[in-house]
Amino acid sequence: MTTYTAPVDDMMFLYEKLRNNKFYNELDKYKDVSPDLVKNILEEAAKINQNLILPLAKAGDEQPAILENGVVRTPPGYKEAYKKYIEDGWTSLSCDPKYGGQGMPKTVSAFFDEMLSSASLSFKLYSELSIGAYNCINHHATDDVKERYLPKMVEGKWSGTMCLTEPVCGTDLGLLKTKAIEQNDGTYKLSGQKIFITSGDQDLTENIIHLVIARSADSPAGTKGISLFLVPKFVVNEDGSLGPRNGISTGSIESKMGIKGSATCVLNFDEAVGYMIGPKNKGLNSMFTMMNLERIVVGIQGLGISEIAYQNSLIYSKERKQGKSNKNNSTNGSADFIIEHADIRKSLLNMKSIIEGERALCFWLSQQTEVSLNHDNEKIKQEASDYVSLMTPVVKAFFTDMGSEITSEAMQIFGGYGYTKDQGIEQLYRDNRITPIYEGTNSVQAIDLVFRKLVNKNGDIIDRYINMVKKDLATEDDKIKPFAKILNIYLEKLITFTSWIKEKIQNSKDDANAASNDYLKVLGLVAVGYSWFKVLQVSFDDYENNKNFYEDKIQTANFFFKRVIPRIDSHCSSAMSGSKYIMDYKFN
Ligand SMILES: Cc1cc2nc3c(=O)[nH]c(=O)nc-3n(C[C@H](O)[C@H](O)[C@H](O)COP(=O)(O)OP(=O)(O)OC[C@H]3O[C@@H](n4cnc5c(N)ncnc54)[C@H](O)[C@@H]3O)c2cc1C
Repeated sequence: MTTYTAPVDDMMFLYEKLRNNKFYNELDKYKDVSPDLVKNILEEAAKINQNLILPLAKAGDEQPAILENGVVRTPPGYKEAYKKYIEDGWTSLSCDPKYGGQGMPKTVSAFFDEMLSSASLSFKLYSELSIGAYNCINHHATDDVKERYLPKMVEGKWSGTMCLTEPVCGTDLGLLKTKAIEQNDGTYKLSGQKIFITSGDQDLTENIIHLVIARSADSPAGTKGISLFLVPKFVVNEDGSLGPRNGISTGSIESKMGIKGSATCVLNFDEAVGYMIGPKNKGLNSMFTMMNLERIVVGIQGLGISEIAYQNSLIYSKERKQGKSNKNNSTNGSADFIIEHADIRKSLLNMKSIIEGERALCFWLSQQTEVSLNHDNEKIKQEASDYVSLMTPVVKAFFTDMGSEITSEAMQIFGGYGYTKDQGIEQLYRDNRITPIYEGTNSVQAIDLVFRKLVNKNGDIIDRYINMVKKDLATEDDKIKPFAKILNIYLEKLITFTSWIKEKIQNSKDDANAASNDYLKVLGLVAVGYSWFKVLQVSFDDYENNKNFYEDKIQTANFFFKRVIPRIDSHCSSAMSGSKYIMDYKFN
């Protein structure tokens, strides 16, 4: 079984030393969230994740969720753990105190999300979509609906789901067939089938609040005719008590490669009572509130799984002896720990430098998200929102793709013991593999980035981002200059690639489409590099106060700048070869 120690020190380093966003620090809401308070929260979070939730990962993999007489049963231990989890208030961490939440910023809840993803992604998914649904209802529903549903969701007694996918529509939601017929009392009756619904049913909560997209009878075809509906498993009475069972049944649950403890359900809606949320035919806009925040959280899933894969690889490489290191001249046939081999060390540093850089980037993005939601100056809010919209597909796709790379690398370090089941490494690989697919596939994230996020109605977001990085790199500090020089070289490559892709968007969409994944990687590498640059600034400035910690940071960054960021070269030259030879090829 895998072991896990939550990286509280690294998280506290970010919280104490990189909370330097002026606009974030202006938010009154979070003035009382002191480092001491955050440290207490993270230490408690570490305990529950390491002790209670980590063992559920293996349990859920070996005894997956099942459907029994129409009811989903979660794996052994999940019910007891969920009870404790909600009693301790973990579902409510970032929710509004008005509805019983603890009002913590995303800078803190993102750390918790990472720990929970490391401990057990399957268990995490039972509450993850509840928070997404909470955010969506909080943004778009009437006060009456919010008061009726949110307190129970924040408490964790009711959960939430996101019902988009249907047999004929995944990426292209405009094809959906689920119908909503308006009733005389203003409610709707929904009929249709949704598939792949995470936590569509379970035995952990008293009620499930489904957020469903559907088309009402008089709405146009395509995405412009989609509305959003709240459809509870049990109808909720005026006084908040539970009424009759609604017309929703679980057809089956999927048998999957990974996250087997999570119930992925086929849901049949048969004249189920629903309430429209937000304006008619604008359902996708409302749903995007949920999906955008969710995409960042899915990126964090990739980060969390990468962290536990790295930790276990490091331990193993210090325990497993094979072959002689290049320093070992003995002739007695003794072998060295595999951590002595340059190739293994390179793999470990690859993992570590990507993970720590991603965590720093995620911390920056969490601050931007809070500014975009809460600042009282509209212009500042909008600018932050633009950065969030630029970086959301990057975090979702880059972190989860790196999760695939890192879990695969971990398996490689474990050799045959990584491929067999005992050590739990192959499970990390399988569990992570869904993250590049759900919440919009990574290719679709890349296309979204290239075609919609670089330039929008507020102007040229990517140029603004590039200029911000460029300004910071103009440093006279001798220690950090070599890093600034390398990052500058790759920033120039990003600039060239950006001009190329902007031109192709106008004149050759296939070229742009075929280059999208590479472009996302290049921007991801620059963004992680820039996050490392910020970490380095603190590491050099504050060096004497925590030498060992900062030396470790500097050396890890050194690896990233020498061995990881140069991947940009190959992404650029491959992508800029165009797409004619791809589109002209005739598949047999
Ligand atoms: C375990 C699991 C949990 C899930 N949970 C939920 C959930 O809670 N709620 C929910 O609604 N859905 C959920 N999903 C569905 C998931 O979001 C979809 O599977 C995903 O969005 C992709 O849709 P699809 O499977 O239909 O693939 P398709 O859309 O058919 O895509 C197939 C391939 O074509 C590519 N592609 C599609 N369009 C384009 C394009 N325009 N240009 C280039 N390439 C393109 C895709 O990248 C992909 O590689 C879940 C799925 C799984 C497996």
